[in-house]
Amino acid sequence: MPISSLFRKEVIAMSAYKVADASGLIKLDAMENPYNWPEDIKTSWLETLRDCPLNRYPDPEAKLLTETIKYLYQIPDQFDVLLGNGSDEIIQILLMALPSDACVLAPTPGFVMYKQLSDCLGLNYHGIPLLAENFELNLPAMLAAIQQYQPSVIFLAYPNNPTGNLFSAASIKEIIKTAKGLVVIDEAYSPFADASFISSLGQYDNLLVMRTVSKLGLAGLRLGYIAGSTEIIEQLHKIRLPYNINCLTQLSANFALSNKALFDQQTQAICAERAIVYKQLKSLNGIAAYPSNANFILFKTPENTASKIFESIKRQGVLIKNLNAQGGLLRDCLRVTIGKPEENSTFLNALINSLGEIG
Ligand SMILES: *Cc1c(COP(=O)(O)O)cnc(C)c1O
Repeated sequence: MPISSLFRKEVIAMSAYKVADASGLIKLDAMENPYNWPEDIKTSWLETLRDCPLNRYPDPEAKLLTETIKYLYQIPDQFDVLLGNGSDEIIQILLMALPSDACVLAPTPGFVMYKQLSDCLGLNYHGIPLLAENFELNLPAMLAAIQQYQPSVIFLAYPNNPTGNLFSAASIKEIIKTAKGLVVIDEAYSPFADASFISSLGQYDNLLVMRTVSKLGLAGLRLGYIAGSTEIIEQLHKIRLPYNINCLTQLSANFALSNKALFDQQTQAICAERAIVYKQLKSLNGIAAYPSNANFILFKTPENTASKIFESIKRQGVLIKNLNAQGGLLRDCLRVTIGKPEENSTFLNALINSLGEIG
């Protein structure tokens, strides 16, 4: 018997989540904020960390940071918040709390971790295709799937990754009302979108709102949070490992969020650049760019050229994301994260050169 037969069949069937090597390249593949901090802010951050007691376990409930988050993002007092080592860990915690035969539903194309984590836990994942013309929710299909599968959890990314759009809020509300299971609105890109379901928490018992500081500009810290009713969050705390948020993350996030004005400036700059890159992409012959409420833009290349264009752009020193292999609505699609103005120009020139190469 091979030693691998010790593992669950769904684990053996999976592949590990691969991250492309970006060394030496301009990194526009992972929705990171391209801006670092000014020197004076770095200095006060290091001062904050000086006396961090690394010999002690961190506060298991990260009370101070939780309070900061509740206050800053106006999460009403009657709701609870659970912090995760990135929102990826929160998705994992939530799915681990479900019965082993539970169904999980999400529109597709969508964020890959919903399926990846459902698969590795042996849950039944169902992806419901978005409408081809505008990546909007197919509401009748979603409602039919809810009736058919009775999902324990539905994930809706708002804005959606990798398409960048905000789904219709009316459709989302219809889904929350119809579903008997939990509905997680994943607001990973909320810093770039003027829309949120946080203020709707009080209206629906089954609604959870999840966010992360990663796309805001703190991807290295690994911190996400989810807000919802006490009855739901208290179950999730039982699955959470006791010290899942380390003390450096607790202190650094608390420090960073108290300098929120800095991130607001950076996200405004990124949104302004998004408009410029979108306009330039749209002006290119053969490229179809999709409108975005996030810090990236999805675009379609001429038929069967996506991988060639991706490789050519990479040879010219810029790493973006090739989504062509995912197929379906993502055939021929590439995704670029908005970087600094000069990085975006380098990307656009590389794209123009690559279009010339394929003729
Ligand atoms: C990036 C992303 C996440 C994961 O964020 P982390 O907090 O870095 O784990 C979650 N949801 C969506 C839609 C994302 O794009």
